Amino acid sequence: DQAICTPLPVLGCDVRVPLVTGGEVTYAALDYAASAPALQRVWDDVAAYAPYYGSVHRGAGYLSQLSTELFENSRADVAAFLGCRDGDQVLFTRSTTDSLNLLAAVLPTGTRVFVFETEHHAALLPWQRRADVAVTYLDAPRSPAQAVETLERALATREPYGPALVCVTGASNVTGELWPVRELAAAAHAHGARIVVDAAQLVPHQRVDIAELDADWVAFSGHKLYAPFGAGVLAGRADWLREARPYLAGGGASRRVARGASGEVEVDWHEGVARHEAGSPNVIGAYAIASACKALAEAGFDRLAERERELIGRVREGLAAVPGVRVLSLFGPDAPSVGVLSFTVDGWNSSHFAAALSAEYGIGVRDGLFCAHPLVRTLVGAESSAEGECGSPDEGAPLNAIRVSFGAGTPDEHVERFVTAVGELV
Ligand code: PMP
Repeated sequence: DQAICTPLPVLGCDVRVPLVTGGEVTYAALDYAASAPALQRVWDDVAAYAPYYGSVHRGAGYLSQLSTELFENSRADVAAFLGCRDGDQVLFTRSTTDSLNLLAAVLPTGTRVFVFETEHHAALLPWQRRADVAVTYLDAPRSPAQAVETLERALATREPYGPALVCVTGASNVTGELWPVRELAAAAHAHGARIVVDAAQLVPHQRVDIAELDADWVAFSGHKLYAPFGAGVLAGRADWLREARPYLAGGGASRRVARGASGEVEVDWHEGVARHEAGSPNVIGAYAIASACKALAEAGFDRLAERERELIGRVREGLAAVPGVRVLSLFGPDAPSVGVLSFTVDGWNSSHFAAALSAEYGIGVRDGLFCAHPLVRTLVGAESSAEGECGSPDEGAPLNAIRVSFGAGTPDEHVERFVTAVGELV
């Protein structure tokens, strides 16, 4: 029990911030869904390696060989963490956004993409960039079962030939609610479609096993997984990746480049992971992600999830006791969720509320539309009552919300301070 209640050590847990009311407090980072603080263990691993890094893949020197080995071992560690199947590839990218844009770039011509309007923009928009790909946008479902029905219905009406891809989040960055990924994958596969899971908000909270989920690809970012900014992952099936033009053209992706008889420059591209990893890779970023994967796996997702359930329970209970607080939810108040929750407060503009939590309590949350405009429009539009209730008319319609999010490094005190602060401000 004691172990369950102990947060994992993260950086920044002793940062002091001034309050407008005088004095200072320890910063309470409750914005893990945007970027989680790095695990101390990740920092230590990176610090131990940093003095030794050298160019990867191309250098003959000892440090280059060491870096290449660490980079490729990191790929293997991430593959093991995700339970990758034989033949799956792990590509290191810049972020979830980059991973999903990469996948969009390699879709076979004529692919039909199915995506719920509720997705984060990183999962909603990349498909539009392909003129030879058709996108079907699916209405927001109001239950996990309805999500599966909606997808089934849409897939049933598509032409029974040609490639198709479903893109869905594993856990919402707005409501924290878990999506029925396994069921959606089964529906996709039953109709000959593939599925990519935007796991940006799932990987930090739950064990994600690509084979168990039967997902064709998963995408996520290091900076939400207790590793630093600048590196992400796209893992999954190799065939579409192998057959497509490289995502970036340049060194590393090209196996042979020569002037042809006509004077043109001709290129043979690599077929493996190098095909889509042109340029010098972010070896430290990849190493940090692998370190975070190992640290979380060692801590145990059962333990982390149990602790997180306690914290979510405390936040929900605390907010329920404050009049005028409306928690945003697509699937209903009892839907299982990760440690991410958004709400509005009657009579408040959410931006002002978030600013007050920072200035008066040293609490860092996020406000706004969380890069999921259609979803927030649906939820806040549906939840807010009279016009102008959440802000004065000259501020325009208060289409925004406050998001609190936490994870493996969150101490109880941050959650208690947050619940107290919301009550006091209201
Ligand atoms: N998908 C989801 C569900 C997210 O929460 C985010 C980040 N807010 C992204 C994609 C994009 O991640 P990144 O900004 O790291 O590319």
